[in-house]
This record gives sequence, structure tokens and C-alpha cells, in this order.
Amino acid sequence: MKIITIAICLGFPFLSLVSQSTENKLNVLDRKAYERSIQKNSNKELINLEKKIPGITLDIKYATRDNFTKQVIYKEPKAFARKPVAEALRKANLEFLQLGYSIKIFDAYRPYAATVKFFEIVGDTRYVASPKTGSRHNKGCAIDLTLVDQKTKRELSMPTEYDSFRKEAWAEASVSDPEILKNRTILISTLSQYGFRVNKTEWWHYDFLDCSGFEVLDIPFEELE
Ligand SMILES: [Zn+2]
Repeated sequence: MKIITIAICLGFPFLSLVSQSTENKLNVLDRKAYERSIQKNSNKELINLEKKIPGITLDIKYATRDNFTKQVIYKEPKAFARKPVAEALRKANLEFLQLGYSIKIFDAYRPYAATVKFFEIVGDTRYVASPKTGSRHNKGCAIDLTLVDQKTKRELSMPTEYDSFRKEAWAEASVSDPEILKNRTILISTLSQYGFRVNKTEWWHYDFLDCSGFEVLDIPFEELE
């Protein structure tokens, strides 16, 4: 800021532009920078959700071709989130277990390179995050999920399939089937009690609200363990 102030005072608009563009550049951490960051703040650690949360299942769509890109994006089907996010999800899952359900994760922490790839494929920030900003998934702070029956592991009926671009996927879209409405309501309201807010246009996407200070990361899953 000091440089900008001085530059403006001295009437050097060129210098102020240069320092502003540096400030606006997205800060993306590689593995080494991430490791330094967790030494300073252990809450920044990415936790393996499958190991941390008893009873959850994974169905990581981007590790298969069964996703909107029709390409395999991840080398491994893994799910990670920052420590407080993982802890909140563990508590929410305990509540779901009491109802006879458990969480099934479609996607969690997403390396920044995957967000860049999505944008190359789709090229429209209405549907995918802009590489200029990254997404909360890149910060280990958002989870895509649904509920399954605890015993059979069958998915509960929800308004649409995962990653649907249809209007029915909106979190407040009207639902005529009472069972589907009940399932969506339990999912959204329980997660909201643990600090997660549903995305307006995606019933399966939940942002953890307390994510200040968590940077965008670009570390492939295989480098995390
Ligand atoms: Zn999402």
C-alpha cells in the first residue's frame, strides 16, 4: 500500500498500476509453501476425510469419467478438507448416523490445476470457477456430498443427480415429492447447524463459513500422504 500511496502522491500512475496488479494476483500455494503454512497454523492441515470420519463413503466423480467433463481429472479417489472443516463434518455425520444415514462425498479439496482444467473445458464462469479467483474447493473449504442409507449405502433420493446444471438443482427449487423434499431439508438444515452453507444453485455443495486465511492450494492428492 505504501508504494501505491507514494506513487499516487508523486504522480506516477504507471508505478501504481504495477504494484496493484501484483496485489491482485492469486496466491496459490504449492506443497512446500503449504507445509510451511501448517507449521504456523495447524488448522490449515488437509485431513483425509475417509480416515477421519467413521462411516463415510467416497464416490469421487472426478477420479472417473462419470462427471460433466467426461474426463478423468484426479489420479486417485481421495477426499481432503482443512482440519476445522473435517471436524465439523465428523460431527454432522454423527447426527446423520442417529437418523440411519451417513455422508457420501462426491468432491472435497480440489487442486487448483483441476479448476484451471474445468475452465479450459467449459469456459464459462456461470458454471465453473474462474482461475482468477479459484474456488472454495481449492481452499479445502467446500464439500460436495449427499446422504446414503447407513446400512445399504444406497443414495437417498434428491432433486437431481450430482453436478446437474438444471434449475431443479437449486437449493430452494420447489419439490413435489415429499420424500425428496424431506431428504434435501435434512441435509441442508443439519449441515447448517455445523457451519456449512448450501450453494444457491447446487443442493450438494456446502461451503464451510469460517475459512478466512485459507489459501488456494495446488497440491495433487498423491503428494498429500
Ligand atoms: Zn462444489
